Amino acid sequence: MTEVSVAKEDVAATGDLVVLKSVNKHFGALHVLQDIDLTIARGEVVVVIGPSGSGKSTLCRTINRLETIDSGSITIDGKPLPHEGKELARLRADVGMVFQSFNLFAHKTVLENVTLGQVKVRKKDKKAAEERARALLDRVGVGAQAEKYPAQLSGGQQQRVAIARALAMEPKVMLFDEPTSALDPEMINEVLEVMQQLARDGMTMIVVTHEMGFARSAANRVVFMADGRIVEQASPDQFFSNPRSDRAKDFLSKIL
Ligand code: ADP
Ligand code: MG
Repeated sequence: MTEVSVAKEDVAATGDLVVLKSVNKHFGALHVLQDIDLTIARGEVVVVIGPSGSGKSTLCRTINRLETIDSGSITIDGKPLPHEGKELARLRADVGMVFQSFNLFAHKTVLENVTLGQVKVRKKDKKAAEERARALLDRVGVGAQAEKYPAQLSGGQQQRVAIARALAMEPKVMLFDEPTSALDPEMINEVLEVMQQLARDGMTMIVVTHEMGFARSAANRVVFMADGRIVEQASPDQFFSNPRSDRAKDFLSKIL
């Protein structure tokens, strides 16, 4: 991989980057996030697992304000989430998000996908933005696809473009919501390898995934959610060898 700096923050900097305090969220009568307390340190890689419907995606979406919360607080780098406008656009750039379904702009080339936000939100000039985009595309192994449209790429390639697009914004933290769930099995590893490399480079990451191999090798901490609550959290070693709650034991017995 070519050398290109991906994180906005110096990885040597310390402190808590993402802090959720007593966060509650309802969808109508459904209490989807219940008193969530979660602190993510700079450079930490946290894997979030749990049964379908437990609130993992909603948790991710609240962190870059794709969903609002009903009570509690969320801060990034000590600052509360902005509500609207340019501030919100900058927050979304600071908090890179990679979805299960890639979400690339279908009518833009790969290069344009990775250049656009840099120009619009980060106010870079087009040439510098394209240079960074090409370096990042090389880094995730799709440099040769720069002039193509998303539909001309495999799922694994599209997801790597989506990662490059988020990284282009020099995010403080990257959120991944089941980034490999929609991929054919043979493409899962090429995406996980890019994520592993990012983790090694010191990126702060919150990763919702069922890929337990990734959790074991890349995560500093596993957070287990069920029914809108964080039921337990531990190091991967501890969690996988000795889950404490019945919910976690039951979940692990089904997926391992
Ligand atoms: P997970 O990602 O862990 O599968 P989600 O955060 O997607 O869980 O969903 C948690 C619960 O909230 C589920 O019961 C889901 O059906 C519900 N939910 C998610 N998004 C919405 C929404 N926009 N409106 C109503 N209910 C929702
Ligand atoms: Mg989900």
